[in-house]
Amino acid sequence: MTNSAAIIPPAKVTVIGLGNMGRPMAACIARAGFQVTGFDLSADARSAFAKEGGNAAATIDEAIAGAAAIVTLLPDGKIVRAAIEGFKTKLAKGTVIIDMSSSAPLGTRALGEELIADGFEFIDAPVSGGVKRAISGTLAIMAGGAHATIDRADKVLLSMGPAAFRTGPLGSGHAAKALNNYVSAAGLAAAAEALAIGSKFGIEPNTLVDVLNASTGRNNSTENKLKQFMISESYASGFAMALMAKDIQTADELAHQIGVKAPLADEITAMWNNALKQLGPKSDHTEIGRYLTADK
Ligand code: NAD
Repeated sequence: MTNSAAIIPPAKVTVIGLGNMGRPMAACIARAGFQVTGFDLSADARSAFAKEGGNAAATIDEAIAGAAAIVTLLPDGKIVRAAIEGFKTKLAKGTVIIDMSSSAPLGTRALGEELIADGFEFIDAPVSGGVKRAISGTLAIMAGGAHATIDRADKVLLSMGPAAFRTGPLGSGHAAKALNNYVSAAGLAAAAEALAIGSKFGIEPNTLVDVLNASTGRNNSTENKLKQFMISESYASGFAMALMAKDIQTADELAHQIGVKAPLADEITAMWNNALKQLGPKSDHTEIGRYLTADK
């Protein structure tokens, strides 16, 4: 029998993955009045969370005990599956599991179906907006799965963003997220190329950004990334190159898996994977600008 009761404060919510996104998102859930416990395999991440006022559990068993909902914010869907498989035998039936990582949609669908057959509830609810909007609780949230489960999780989700788009069945949130990041990465790469060309021609980069932002070439990257992270060379967006490359690849693989031709996605995927190879897994995704202007 499924539980239809909404999860409301002060229910316990466990956040697994206390990285750049997990920590501020856990703080949002706590601000809404939930009892939040966080867990991360990394002791550094646990202590960073505790320093910010969070309640970090030392073990996964302690973290999940008595939780009404489990939120995962992990690097990818394979890691999400391995983490959940590691603790699900200890989890109460009916617990709502919400994967807010950017995972691959078909893997999510399979995992969700298995968890639901095991007596849990599961939705995918990835986010967009980066660390800044995770801190302010204004993320875009895209939720896939049963409406009844999204309804139950509503108050948890709305602690992190103004609305949760209902994208369709299990995995559709993750599909929407990957497609969003493909569009975002293509826009960032085009803007970075335009800066390189403009600069070689003698247009001051900040001036070109001002022109783009007042014109039809404006996009999220021209507004929020070019001056802030690329021209300043701070490369401190808090979103790793490896994660962006994974998201674009996810979108491209989805196209191939369902038989849709996407030549631009093929091209953009290859570009970001080469940048990742050249700059390394620790690089920030805004370093794509550095990659595009480097002599290759
Ligand atoms: P991150 O690398 O900063 O954090 C991931 C955390 O997961 C790390 O602290 C790591 O130690 C932990 N971890 C890994 N395996 C674990 C396990 N089995 N159990 C517990 N902890 C484990 O990544 P992030 O930037 O916070 O991103 C998290 C997810 O959100 C990713 O899927 C990413 O694609 C997505 N995302 C990131 C951003 C962003 O701007 N950073 C924006 C939207 C979505």
